[in-house]
Amino acid sequence: MSNERKMIYLCLAHMSDEGLEQKYIKEAFDTNWVVPLGPNVNAFEDDLKQFVGKDQQGQEKEVVALSAGTAAVHLALIACGVKAGDEVCVQSFTFCASSHPITYLGATPVFIDSEPDTWNMDPELLEKAILDRIEKTGKKPKAIVPVALYGMPYDCERIMAVAKKYDIPVIEDAAEGFGSKFKGQVLGTFGKFGVLSFNGNKMITTSGGGALVCENAELKNKVMWYATQAREAYPYYQHEEVGYNYRMSNICAGIGHGQMTIANDHIAHHKHVQALYEELLADVEGVTVHKAPSENYDSNYWLCTIELDPTLRIKGQENAYKEVIKTAVGGAAGVIHAVDTAVTDCQPNDNVEALRVYMLNAKIEARPVWKPMHKQPVYKNAPAYVNGISEAIFKVGMCLPAGPYVSDEDVRYIVETIKSAIIR
Ligand SMILES: *Cc1c(COP(=O)(O)O)cnc(C)c1O
Repeated sequence: MSNERKMIYLCLAHMSDEGLEQKYIKEAFDTNWVVPLGPNVNAFEDDLKQFVGKDQQGQEKEVVALSAGTAAVHLALIACGVKAGDEVCVQSFTFCASSHPITYLGATPVFIDSEPDTWNMDPELLEKAILDRIEKTGKKPKAIVPVALYGMPYDCERIMAVAKKYDIPVIEDAAEGFGSKFKGQVLGTFGKFGVLSFNGNKMITTSGGGALVCENAELKNKVMWYATQAREAYPYYQHEEVGYNYRMSNICAGIGHGQMTIANDHIAHHKHVQALYEELLADVEGVTVHKAPSENYDSNYWLCTIELDPTLRIKGQENAYKEVIKTAVGGAAGVIHAVDTAVTDCQPNDNVEALRVYMLNAKIEARPVWKPMHKQPVYKNAPAYVNGISEAIFKVGMCLPAGPYVSDEDVRYIVETIKSAIIR
């Protein structure tokens, strides 16, 4: 292994060859549109509208560009009428941005566990939870938030059927599932709202940003109003409701407008990398690549994921969790609280941690899968409807690099590294 080898990251931002992103940013400066509205924002929203397409009824969607995917979740909840004291059913197996905005509103997340084949919200458990919440609180949950984990579509048909039966709006968290499809229809167009994210590590980026796909123009208008401080039409600032400063900047939108020219290439590349992992790991005993359960599920494979058999022994396993970690895994941005223990009461198996460390030493970024929200201390008092699936996957799961910079040679090297880590 050469010391010259560059670190292989999970998913790095990648710009168009023509540098369109910089061209559109320059145009924003040249025309003095350095504000949270303008030609790039309009163009990017148009791009996204074309990209997500129509729903099965042939209805066109509307899209609002926002400052973050988290802001999109927040505004979708508000537009669904979620208020303090309400409950919202949300997939437990997700990144915290799916559920934190529920808490911002003083509402309570009701966590729903996953089905084993998609790793996403279990429709049966969802229905059970709805019935139990009605019985316990006398009220229906105000919204349902399924999540396309690592890009894999949820069972849109069954989730939407449950939502329809109880007349509860669906907010699709497609932040990781940009361009993923269920039976040919793009995620985000099934529910009342669809959340997209353009954070630096997502399928496409605006450095940071998000968007909300809305069912119709009226909802788009409502979301836009909340995103721009909820103003009434007087010559002075008049407010009858609390609003937010969540609109996307015309600079960021310039990046997004450029990125949309390569969005489909990115998706194709992620799928190609997934296919190569599937092929090369097929006969590695104890390592299972997570894949779509049927062709109804067209995942963008934002991140490729594997499961490690608990009996698999990995080099260095005896040292797993012996040292307190000083930084966030993956070097995530921001401030990370220092911790004084190396372990928690719910963590990936020793062999998963050992493989992560082994890969890192070989300059490969690999990460545990997201820890389910119902196992997070911050949500210890939230109701949860569980079947053990997400917790079990958390203990054996691992994310592998999949971004535009991951070459075939990189995938081969990653697979060889996994093989060499295994003690036979
Ligand atoms: C990234 C992400 C978000 C939020 O996106 P930001 O743009 O980072 O605020 C929401 N949900 C999920 C599942 C995500 O992975």
